[in-house]
Amino acid sequence: MLSKAKVNIILSILEEMYPVAECSLDFDGNDFHFLVRAILSAQCTDKRVNEVTKTLFDKYPSVSSFAQAQQEALAKDIKTCGLYNSKSRNIIKTSQILEEMYDGQIPIESEDLESLPGVGRKVANLIRGELFSIPAVVVDTHCMRVAKRLDFADSDQPLRVEKDLSSCVPKDKWITLGHRFVAHGRALCSARSPKCNSCALEEVCKYGRSQARKR
Ligand code: SF4
Repeated sequence: MLSKAKVNIILSILEEMYPVAECSLDFDGNDFHFLVRAILSAQCTDKRVNEVTKTLFDKYPSVSSFAQAQQEALAKDIKTCGLYNSKSRNIIKTSQILEEMYDGQIPIESEDLESLPGVGRKVANLIRGELFSIPAVVVDTHCMRVAKRLDFADSDQPLRVEKDLSSCVPKDKWITLGHRFVAHGRALCSARSPKCNSCALEEVCKYGRSQARKR
């Protein structure tokens, strides 16, 4: 387990490296649109989702238009996001549940969110943080990798990593931490070739130091 002092050093370096800690999925002020984008982002880049949804919401502007959509037609519209059959089914079913049970609104409780098709723990935490400002750590593949390399966690289970991060990072940093780990995973700490040489975290990073010793 990292010491409190080390956690604070890592957080402040990350803050300097990525002063703007924001979700890279577009938000147009419509909570439901954000939920659709989050469902579409499974195994797809946020960039691609933002591109596809530029025109998707012209065709399906509301919860009810998605609830009544033809699955094959919606699948075609979201095809380039991948997993289009299951994603289209999930979006339609989720829209129907929102209409029937939540008056077309997005529920706030994790349990309710995670019961929606296409919404797992990661998406539920993202929604709670972005739409309701409820502290939650979003653990995606970038976050898992960076957290492990920096020695915040040693598990391959997202829930375990979320618990490890939540236990040592101050609650008011949970939302931004996830965004900064994603930004760092994309910029320098890639899966195949992390650029430890150019990383300001190298001296405090378990993986970075082990790589430096080999050089
Ligand atoms: S030193 Fe390397 S492994 Fe550690 S955070 Fe930086 S890029 Fe990632």
